[in-house]
This record gives sequence, C-alpha cells and structure tokens, in this order.
Amino acid sequence: MTGIYTRLVSKLLFPLHERLKKHDTVAIKAQLEKSQWLPRDKIMQAQNERLKEFIGQIIKEVPYYKALFNKLGLSSSDINSVDDLHKLPFLNKTTIRENYSALKSNQAGAVSSFTTGGSSGTPLTFLLGDERVSHDVAEKWRATCWWDVDIGDKEIVAWGSPIELGAQDKVRILRDKLFRSTLIPAFDVDESKLLGFIDRIKSIQPQMLFGYPSVFSLIAKLALVQNIDLTKLGIKVVFVTSERLYPYQREMIEKAFGAPVANGYGSRDAGFIAHQCPSGSMHISAEDLIVEIIDNDGNVVEDGEKGEVVITHMATSDFPFVRYRTGDIAALDKKTCACGRGLPVLKDIEGRTTDFVVAANGTMMHGLALIYILRELEGIEEFKITQETKLHTRVQIVLSHNSELSSALKEKITSGFKARLGDEVIIDIEISQQIEAEVSGKFRYVISKVT
Ligand SMILES: [Zn+2]
Repeated sequence: MTGIYTRLVSKLLFPLHERLKKHDTVAIKAQLEKSQWLPRDKIMQAQNERLKEFIGQIIKEVPYYKALFNKLGLSSSDINSVDDLHKLPFLNKTTIRENYSALKSNQAGAVSSFTTGGSSGTPLTFLLGDERVSHDVAEKWRATCWWDVDIGDKEIVAWGSPIELGAQDKVRILRDKLFRSTLIPAFDVDESKLLGFIDRIKSIQPQMLFGYPSVFSLIAKLALVQNIDLTKLGIKVVFVTSERLYPYQREMIEKAFGAPVANGYGSRDAGFIAHQCPSGSMHISAEDLIVEIIDNDGNVVEDGEKGEVVITHMATSDFPFVRYRTGDIAALDKKTCACGRGLPVLKDIEGRTTDFVVAANGTMMHGLALIYILRELEGIEEFKITQETKLHTRVQIVLSHNSELSSALKEKITSGFKARLGDEVIIDIEISQQIEAEVSGKFRYVISKVT
C-alpha cells in the first residue's frame, strides 16, 4: 500500500519540483516504465535509433566531436548502430581533462560542474546538464519502483562525501524535507557513531536505505552483535552502490534489516549503469546507456566474456560521454530475466574496491576520507593508498604533466593524512609512472592491511 504522503509527493510535489528545475524526469520515467517490458530486440533497435540521433547531434554541436569526425573522415551516416561504435576512439579521464572546453556543446543549457567522488583513483571534473540529471534521476526512480519504493517514501542515504554533505543550503534542506530523504554522514565511523545511525534509522523508519555496502554492513554487523532488532521497521529494500558488494555483506545486511539488498552499479561519471531487479538480474538502463565490453587490446568481446566496461551515455548531449572507459570489469549476460523485463543484463561485475582505514586511535573511516585529500590537490593524476599498519601508510602518486613533488605538495599530503589518521603515523609518499591493477585484475585505490 502506498501512503497518502507518498502519492502526494510522487504525483504532485515531485513533478512540480522537476518542472521548476526544468527537468523532464516525470515524463522520462513514465516512458521508462513502458519500455522496460519491450522484448530485448525492440529495446536494442530503439537504442540504435537513439544512438544515430545522438551522434548526429553531437557532431553538429560539440566542437570535440565535430573535429574528431573530420579527422577520422567519418560522417554521422557511418554510425548506424552499436556495432559501428568501434570506429570511434575511447574516451578516458585524460582525454576529458585535455579537451574539457571542446567537449561542451555549443547548445548546452545550464550545466553544473561535477568532480567524481566514489573510489576512483583519478579525480575527474566534467559537466552535468539538465538532460543527463533528469535521465539519471528517472532511472533510479524506476529501479526503486521495482522494489515497491516510490519517490516520497522515506529514505535514508548514507554517504561519505564531505562535498555532498557540505551542500546544506536552504534549497537542499527543503528538498530533502519534501522528499523525505535524510542524509547521514558516514565519513568516519566508530561504534558510537554507528549506534547513532541505528537510532536515526529506528526513529525515522524509512522504506529504503541507500548508500555504500561497506557502511551498511558495518551497521548491520553491530546491530546483530548487540541484538538490536531492525527487521520490523518496514524497510523494503537496501540499495547499495558505488562499491563492490560482497556476498557476506549482502547476507549480513539482509539479516539485520530483514529486507533484500538491491545492488546498483554505476558512478557519477559513467551514470547509473545497471540496477538489480527482484529476480536478481542487473538490468542495464539500455534506453540511455550502451555498454560495450572490451578486452585488453580494446576489441569488443563476445557476449558472456569478461572485459572492461565501456559506456556510451546518450543523455549527455551537453557534455558527451562516448565510449567512456570505466576501468571496471563485467560481462554481458544473454539470458532473459525471469522478471519479464527485456532490458539487457550485466553479470560478474568487479568494480573498484575501497577499504576502510583505521586511525591510530582506532577510529574506522571510509577510504574516501583519504581519497578526498588527494583529490583536492593540483598536480596529482592518479594515486593508490596502502595502509600497511596503523602507524604506517604509503601513498603512491602519478604526477600530472609538468608537475613535480614540491615540498609544499608533500607537506599538504602529509598534514592532511596525519589529520585523519593521527599525528604519530608515518606517511611515505612515492612517485610512480603508473598505478597497476591488483593481481586479481581489480583496481583498488585504498587498501588497508589493518584488520
Ligand atoms: Zn529482471
């Protein structure tokens, strides 16, 4: 049963809010609700049509793509389907940085600049237009409806980004109140903070939890150890995202909250790529996103084979993401899902993982606490942080072109890390040419050897 307040929000307040922000989320979501049930070949056919239109538009309006097609001797008629995408080069963080202004459409409306959070080892700034934001919101909304959670149902978001937490302006507070979304900071967590989260969850009684699996599994573990019953609060689903979800985490979260865990795969830069349905499949938001899987040489692999996930997001005409390399590993699954949705399915996703780190005084904090220090500094291209012991952390850095490890930069890193981990901790900074993936093929940018 949907509550009256939820109906009021989803039918009235949310559409109004979106109209004020000039988003078409409501219309897009209504369309997505229908298209998800189409047979897969129809969805893929529509995807090809949309791709042609999108390519035609960005060649005209985006200087980078205009120049690129010229240089390659291609015209819009050379890209007729997803199978033609291989004619275009990949986009990666370096390409985006080097062509930042040329990637902005001449016709771009209001755009806001966004710097990637998550566990990415390379900071990236890009532009988000209204088109993209409304499609991203509509995709998330559709996925929560799969679990019987609508916009306006109470939600608790556990997030670790000090930037998002800092955006507590009046509009934001109003919006959160209106849509009954409560943000709890999960930046550094010790037992007393976790108990505080548990109290918030008990008093708010949300229909949905949303955030990092690592944070919710810490909360779940503590609740289980202390016999705190969270299974009768009416939580319908725990949506986890941004990190790899391990089976033991899923088990613990489901047990503690008495609700299923729904995995979401995506990031702010690549978009909401896939969401899990109640039948267990990770459905790709194929109306907006094309997923290609490539091998080490950059060739598209057969369906079912593992490789790097490459994304073309077709709601990005203000600042296009075409063949964007995510660095994550996954495979396309040919199966049709039991839920009946025709949306294609992604399997065996191995995203980047980020560990929790432990300060000298025992406080546990999300790896992002350290990532943000490096992300804010000029001159750092990539990094990897390894916590060897509570008193020793290594920081590997790849410097940007023309940058050097000045004593000022060194001092900023050291003081930032000591402020988080403790004054007595030794911070070793090493310069590398390249950050290698782990033996398992995964990229981990924060590794803690402290248990
Ligand atoms: Zn399904």
